[in-house]
Amino acid sequence: MSSAVNRLALAPLPEAVRSNRPPPSCRGLHALKLATWAVLALTLAAVPAAASSGDRHSSFHLCSNLCEVSQCEPHSPLIPLYLRLFGWSCIDNCNYHCAHRLTNEADAGREYYHQFFGKWAFYRLGPIQEPLSVIASLGNLWVHYRGLQRVRKTVRPDNNLRPWLETLAYIQINTWLWSTVFHARDTPITERLDYFSAMITIAATLLYAIVRIFGIVTPKTISPLVYPISGAVAVFVLWHFIYVLSFSHFPYGYHVGVAIVLGMIHNVLWLIWTLSLYVALPTISINETLIAWPEPYPPRNALASRRPAHANIPAILVGLTMAAMAFEVLDFAPFYRVLDAHALWHFATIPLGEWWWKYMCADANELDGGLLGPLSSRVHGDKSSD
Ligand SMILES: [Zn+2]
Repeated sequence: MSSAVNRLALAPLPEAVRSNRPPPSCRGLHALKLATWAVLALTLAAVPAAASSGDRHSSFHLCSNLCEVSQCEPHSPLIPLYLRLFGWSCIDNCNYHCAHRLTNEADAGREYYHQFFGKWAFYRLGPIQEPLSVIASLGNLWVHYRGLQRVRKTVRPDNNLRPWLETLAYIQINTWLWSTVFHARDTPITERLDYFSAMITIAATLLYAIVRIFGIVTPKTISPLVYPISGAVAVFVLWHFIYVLSFSHFPYGYHVGVAIVLGMIHNVLWLIWTLSLYVALPTISINETLIAWPEPYPPRNALASRRPAHANIPAILVGLTMAAMAFEVLDFAPFYRVLDAHALWHFATIPLGEWWWKYMCADANELDGGLLGPLSSRVHGDKSSD
């Protein structure tokens, strides 16, 4: 251990990368949009980042302190301009090099692999901290932009689900934009913008699942229930953000736990929806009002299947998404300090996002056609699924 300390202390050293990553009727959606802006404003009140084992390590401390004293004095030469343009400070730069020095020790078998300020040591590309996660985030951004284009090209303007799908696309484009920024340069503000945007995406996809599966919004009708349900989701998300920002240290475990619960409710709803098309699920009668499980499609031609053309897709997508989430759970040290589990998770969601959009447009069109009549349902549904 002491030899490692010496090597770290004696080597010529070129800040705190203050980051942390543990280890997710049209009017209703306006409330979520407002919540988004409120959150972006709240996020500017950044809070300090928590520590990891690497940045608590004595060798790292010694290395970082020596670097700061020798390299970050007022008379010291400035770090390169391309780093400063991306917000790197001299101390950030010291921490970057010290993290790699300690990781070199791990490669040599003299040390454990550590995370630093919530992240493994990655080789940066120019000023970009996690190049592969940036590429994967841009890939996701592109997929959701394509989703927006698909909605506009294939879903009729007077289909009530269209503005919901468009808003969902904008929310996800926003999320992947901030994910790109966060993985390019991790600061308390970019981190929170990434985390909070992701939470808004999870809440919005859950809200869409609720209004779509339970027929609260259909291509032709909008139930008044859309307002209290959308309002409740928007208020919950806003309350969650205010709550987590009230801590002096960001409560990552709580934040991620809430995201997982919302994501699981979304997944279970879609699984039940697929199941409802194969099995007669229980119904409840309250005051002579029959409350049935999903199956929102109207009666179809008796010669055709009662199931919509895409009945199995949500269950398959939920299964694949759960499988891809294994990367997030594993969170292993990156291969060659470049490819980590988080980047693989982001790459995995690219084809899944594409498939979700293909499904949601086809579903909105098939439901639209189904409400027009059995024959038009088939024609419209086939067209939309290109
Ligand atoms: Zn990410």
